[in-house]
Amino acid sequence: MSFINENFLALQDSYLFSTIAKKVAKYTEENPEKKIIKLGIGDVTKPIVPACLEAMHKAVDEMGTEQGFKGYGPEQGYLFLRKAIVENDYQARGVDIQEDEVFVSDGAKCDCGNIVDIFSQNNKVAITDPVYPVYLDTNIMSGREIIYLPVTEENNFKPALPEEKVDMIYLCFPNNPTGTVLEKEELKKWVDYAKQNHSIILYDSAYESFITEDNIPHSIYEIEGAKEVAIEFKSYSKTAGFTGVRCAYLVIPKTLKGYTKQGEEICLNKLWNRRTCTKFNGVSYIVQRTAEATYSIEGKKQIRQNINAYLENAKIIKEGLEEGGFTVYGGVNSPYVWLKVPKGMTSWEFFDQLLEEVNIVGTPGSGFGKNGEGYFRLTAFATKENTIEAIERIKKWR
Ligand code: PLP
Repeated sequence: MSFINENFLALQDSYLFSTIAKKVAKYTEENPEKKIIKLGIGDVTKPIVPACLEAMHKAVDEMGTEQGFKGYGPEQGYLFLRKAIVENDYQARGVDIQEDEVFVSDGAKCDCGNIVDIFSQNNKVAITDPVYPVYLDTNIMSGREIIYLPVTEENNFKPALPEEKVDMIYLCFPNNPTGTVLEKEELKKWVDYAKQNHSIILYDSAYESFITEDNIPHSIYEIEGAKEVAIEFKSYSKTAGFTGVRCAYLVIPKTLKGYTKQGEEICLNKLWNRRTCTKFNGVSYIVQRTAEATYSIEGKKQIRQNINAYLENAKIIKEGLEEGGFTVYGGVNSPYVWLKVPKGMTSWEFFDQLLEEVNIVGTPGSGFGKNGEGYFRLTAFATKENTIEAIERIKKWR
């Protein structure tokens, strides 16, 4: 008999995006003449920039030649990309990370989910509520005890340190869904907590390129001591429009240690390397060359233009809604705007009204956790014209 992992039975079915899709489809069918504007999706819309496209084409052509053909590559990623990552994302910011501390992957979603492989099932895990659901579900799948850290208006959407000792902590800044960021001193508290408690911080920085303000760290390793307590996840998805191309990386400093039951220190970089070599055959050469081009002079310029355009949309949403009398968070260092729904309404009631009365689609905050109830997420990934039109409609309606 083949027994199942019964932890899967403890997962809550997620109907968030399928329910949204069903409601929108029904409304469109009944009202085909209406122009619906979608500010709900968390996917980018701008195409791959020319510098990356050129690198991609070149790599494709190389693969068709005897000299340029590449078979299996290094499981950890080609050195050319890991070098570019180290130089541009770390050394340029004064952070000392080495190439063998970087692991290139096909997405931060997989990395955030797979990393639990190297940790004991007995670890206690702290996760914010509301949250990007991957952290929660992957830990439920492996049966870990979860401690919820509420993020609410009262704490300005910045979680308080756990009241009890936890072993693993997921942090995501700039945050999905709230758009919140932590300043250096605020993140330092988490690093200090992790040091005191021998915990590991799993730091998801998928939206790092949207940071606009000073004093917001672009990497957790800008914080003193973080190399002893943190794993960092980064992704080209939102930075460079790679949601369909698929490329990301994670960093595990060699100074980062886990413990055996007997208290022996074990290098987590070694464990992850072993896991990677066993279960992964690397990201395609073509994709890694495309990712490398994000660091070229032209690549950087073109990507920045796209991010600035998304940030401008976020500003239009944030300022427009504030003018319309809404209470709004995020949208400054993030493509996400977290909006408080009018008093007395649930997130889903607001969703329905917005869809039916002004034909705008967003995401109910309750879909990201209990504490998301009463909030609503709008995203900056639509065109500028549609973003302006959507906000004008909401302002008039209000
Ligand atoms: N982390 C966060 C917080 C996200 O919001 C997302 C995607 O929406 C990801 C990770 C996934 O990134 P990737 O496309 O690299 O898998």
